[in-house]
Amino acid sequence: MKIAIIGAGIVGCAIAHALLDEGHEVLILDREGPAFGPSRGNAGWMAHTDILPIASPKILRQVPKFLLDPLGPLSIRPAYLPRLLPWLVRFVLAARPQAYEASIRGIGALQQRALPAWLARAERSGLTRHIHRKGGLYAFTDAGAMDEAARIARRQAEFGIRVEMIGPEALRQFEPALKGGFAGAAFHPDTAHISDPLQLTMALFETALARGATFEKAEITGISTGERPALIGRDGWQRVVDRAVIAAGAWSKPLAAALGDSVPLDTERGYNVSFPGMTGLTSRPIGFEGHGFVVTPLDSGLRIGGAVEFGGLAAAPNHARTKTLYDKAAGFLDGLPPFESGTLWMGFRPSMPDSLPVIGAASRNPRVVYAFGHGHYGMTQATVTAEITAALLAGRAPELDIAAFSPRRF
Ligand SMILES: Cc1cc2nc3c(=O)[nH]c(=O)nc-3n(C[C@H](O)[C@H](O)[C@H](O)COP(=O)(O)OP(=O)(O)OC[C@H]3O[C@@H](n4cnc5c(N)ncnc54)[C@H](O)[C@@H]3O)c2cc1C
Repeated sequence: MKIAIIGAGIVGCAIAHALLDEGHEVLILDREGPAFGPSRGNAGWMAHTDILPIASPKILRQVPKFLLDPLGPLSIRPAYLPRLLPWLVRFVLAARPQAYEASIRGIGALQQRALPAWLARAERSGLTRHIHRKGGLYAFTDAGAMDEAARIARRQAEFGIRVEMIGPEALRQFEPALKGGFAGAAFHPDTAHISDPLQLTMALFETALARGATFEKAEITGISTGERPALIGRDGWQRVVDRAVIAAGAWSKPLAAALGDSVPLDTERGYNVSFPGMTGLTSRPIGFEGHGFVVTPLDSGLRIGGAVEFGGLAAAPNHARTKTLYDKAAGFLDGLPPFESGTLWMGFRPSMPDSLPVIGAASRNPRVVYAFGHGHYGMTQATVTAEITAALLAGRAPELDIAAFSPRRF
């Protein structure tokens, strides 16, 4: 079949490979070029050991505190609040105990398959040098948070995820650049990190082209509901294909709406500062629990990033937020270069209120499949999503139950 993929982020590029594996003719479309969304600059964690949704009873308790601090780990731009309200209502509903448990099951089912799917893809496509398997650390400044992490570790064990709780001394042996004052850490021995999100996405994209996929720069503004979907672009541009995939990240909502699906997709904007060429300060990624940021030793340099800002897709970045992350990191790590020497970036996580992606056929045209909304885990879940999408397009049942990811679940 001739299959078009709208979006050349990490998810679209991974899907291209899964479709090429099955002998399809693949056309990748992007209005910018490959890796222009968050797939360009994310934190680079293969975070398959994270199984907790963002909407949780704990977050709801913390929201009032967060909102009082406009540069805190979670914030809402006041002007965006009216537009965000329907999403926020879903978010609150997703934090109810039963819904929270359902989200954990959905995330866990994807995360369990995420690393094996990546390792298989990396092996087949010659990309193994992009995946580093050194584990990851979540460091705690507060002993109470350690107890909670031990409780979460028991949940993670249900999904076969190994977590080792370690004390402050062991933590400093793992990462000598950390300053004192930590109560300890949760060590995830199986967590991986990648070379660099831009490098990995480009490598996937280029290997897909080398395998026969083609690329066109085009902004898709509509999709017909006919027997063979017609993709409509600007200035009379049109391509008719046998099947199409919408993998346009945070920009997927209007395309899904045109196919009869009103999905509550919004964006959690995230920020980072990177220090190109700076390697070796830490050996593995470190998250700072309760502070909303992580530090990743990418091959391209050290990256400090995180935060969740609700402000939509149009507002300019507020890098005072990035400086706040940097200042916190400087309080935790020795040897950081000056903030001014870093490269600043903001990206748009494609976020659903229940932290589960949308994977499934469109209501008005089952020949179009959705693969978007992966929020904090799009890089991690790209290859497992690609396997599910390829199965759906071939008319096979995917390996896992995908009811939790239905575009019609709300
Ligand atoms: C600060 C930050 C840190 C993160 N850290 C991690 C991490 O450590 N691990 C992890 O797994 N995930 C992480 N994420 C999340 C991850 O980056 C995203 O979930 C993922 O990149 C989404 O990929 P995607 O391919 O779905 O979308 P995108 O990367 O957004 O790609 C979508 C593409 O579609 C194109 N497009 C949009 N609309 C159209 C249209 N109408 N026509 C044609 N093209 C269109 C865009 O140009 C874009 O290139 C992080 C995100 C942020 C912001």
